[in-house]
Amino acid sequence: MSYIGRFAPSPTGPLHFGSLLAALASFLDARANNGQWLLRIEDLDPPREQAGLKEQFPDILEGFGLYWDGELELQSERLEHYEDALKQLIDDRNAYLCSCSRKEIQQRTDTSVYDAHCYLHPPEQTDNCAVRVCCKDSLISFRDIIQGPHAYNLAMSSGDYIIFRRDGFYAYQLAVVVDDYLQGVTHVVRGSDLLDETPRQIHLQQLLGYPTPAYAHIPVANNLEGQKLSKQTFAPAIETKDAVELTYKALEFLGQSPESGLRNAAQIELIEWAIANWDIHKVPNVPGIQFLQEQ
Ligand code: GLU
Ligand code: ZN
Repeated sequence: MSYIGRFAPSPTGPLHFGSLLAALASFLDARANNGQWLLRIEDLDPPREQAGLKEQFPDILEGFGLYWDGELELQSERLEHYEDALKQLIDDRNAYLCSCSRKEIQQRTDTSVYDAHCYLHPPEQTDNCAVRVCCKDSLISFRDIIQGPHAYNLAMSSGDYIIFRRDGFYAYQLAVVVDDYLQGVTHVVRGSDLLDETPRQIHLQQLLGYPTPAYAHIPVANNLEGQKLSKQTFAPAIETKDAVELTYKALEFLGQSPESGLRNAAQIELIEWAIANWDIHKVPNVPGIQFLQEQ
């Protein structure tokens, strides 16, 4: 079986312990399956981007012994691919222009499901418009390798969703699907905070005629208040000097039971042990785990 995995961080905040979990799990699953592991920086949201961050990501990953295959890709340099897919969806009448502001939508409806207003009443102007995908009664089901079977009715969970924003940027949903396809990704291993995004991604793959990769969503690390570690909850940035300690903790978190002697191992030794002993079925099948971290 040919296996291509990837890690796809966004440069909206520094890499933290939660990022390390996603990087490590996707790397180990790829390497344990003799697969390739790609690195793609998802820098499609300049207003939320933190300057100077994406330049640091490759060095930090190398410092953790996580070496990727092939060229590092930046989504900001791949816009023409997203444009092609957007055009295909519009031409096939699977997507339509929407001129609604958030306020207008809120005034018409009290749910978070878009009311398909612009599908029924196409806007007269074409600039300043978002693009939404029609989802009618799409029922999407999939079996996550870690989290088990999931089924969603998109018309009820999200409604027609945005793939191109009114402020002129491509939405994560579209870019991630196009890139996973063009890069030949067969396995997506990432945090369970993205589990609910998966049905829309599968829906887009179906509309665009792309195969659906295998999905494995690892638990996210939560702080004592039950919030996911993230930039918003001030999760500390990971540093290469702490690589062994953090990797050891991450392996414990992922249910891999590293031998205690490895606490004093070199990083490369720890990674080699982790590849040789990786068992994705030992990863806890829960959405999140409380994680204590010294600040
Ligand atoms: N760029 C996304 C994030 O950092 C992850 C995308 C993915 O793994 O599908 O949350
Ligand atoms: Zn609209």
